[in-house]
Amino acid sequence: MLAIGARDELPAVEDLAKRWGRSIFHWPCCHGYELKPGPIGIIAASEIAHHHAMMLPDWGAPTLFLNGAYRPTDDDIVAFARRGTTVEATSIVRVEGVADVVLTDDRTLSMNGLFTQPRTHIASPIAAQLGCTLVQGPMGVFIQLGAMQQTYVPNVFACGDAARAAGSVAMTVADAAMAWVAAHRSTMF
Ligand SMILES: Cc1cc2nc3c(=O)[nH]c(=O)nc-3n(C[C@H](O)[C@H](O)[C@H](O)COP(=O)(O)OP(=O)(O)OC[C@H]3O[C@@H](n4cnc5c(N)ncnc54)[C@H](O)[C@@H]3O)c2cc1C
Repeated sequence: MLAIGARDELPAVEDLAKRWGRSIFHWPCCHGYELKPGPIGIIAASEIAHHHAMMLPDWGAPTLFLNGAYRPTDDDIVAFARRGTTVEATSIVRVEGVADVVLTDDRTLSMNGLFTQPRTHIASPIAAQLGCTLVQGPMGVFIQLGAMQQTYVPNVFACGDAARAAGSVAMTVADAAMAWVAAHRSTMF
């Protein structure tokens, strides 16, 4: 049973990593409401920033920091403005305080919290070593499964972030329950 999780590769912004999971997040549905209505920063790390720019106005007033990592089209910028997202093209020097973004032109924009788009990696090489089929998702590689949480290697099952394009605690617990049932069943039939 592979319940090994995923490792997040964060954008190389100074002092961002130490705030990961405290004031910097990736999933609006989990953390948007915690930031109260107010300024929310989106640090672009890939084109998935587009989703953040469109979703986060439901929880606050976002500023999308392009930081040289994402180039929206003119139509995208119009769509962001309609939703209430401001676009900031000046690059980031570092993050300070709770979620203050220091820019190369010496401005500092204070945010209630920040979002970014990590690349995910399966947290252990064991899945590849066993010969599990791995697939590329929008955020990174994960283990491909059948409907009963089975990998394509006999008697190897998986659950959670290692075996999903993106996950949550509730999804992981549901996957794990099904994986356990399937693994137990496989010992008899
Ligand atoms: C910043 C952040 C905020 C989040 N906020 C939320 C939230 O608010 N609500 C929500 O529902 N979800 C949230 N999530 C997602 C949630 O944390 C994950 O979906 C969930 O923890 C996945 O569980 P998992 O068991 O698959 O992996 P993990 O929780 O990562 O656990 C895997 C464990 O396996 C261990 N391991 C790895 N390799 C080996 C090995 N070879 N041998 C032994 N042990 C090994 C690891 O050390 C780790 O302890 C958040 C994630 C992040 C990164």
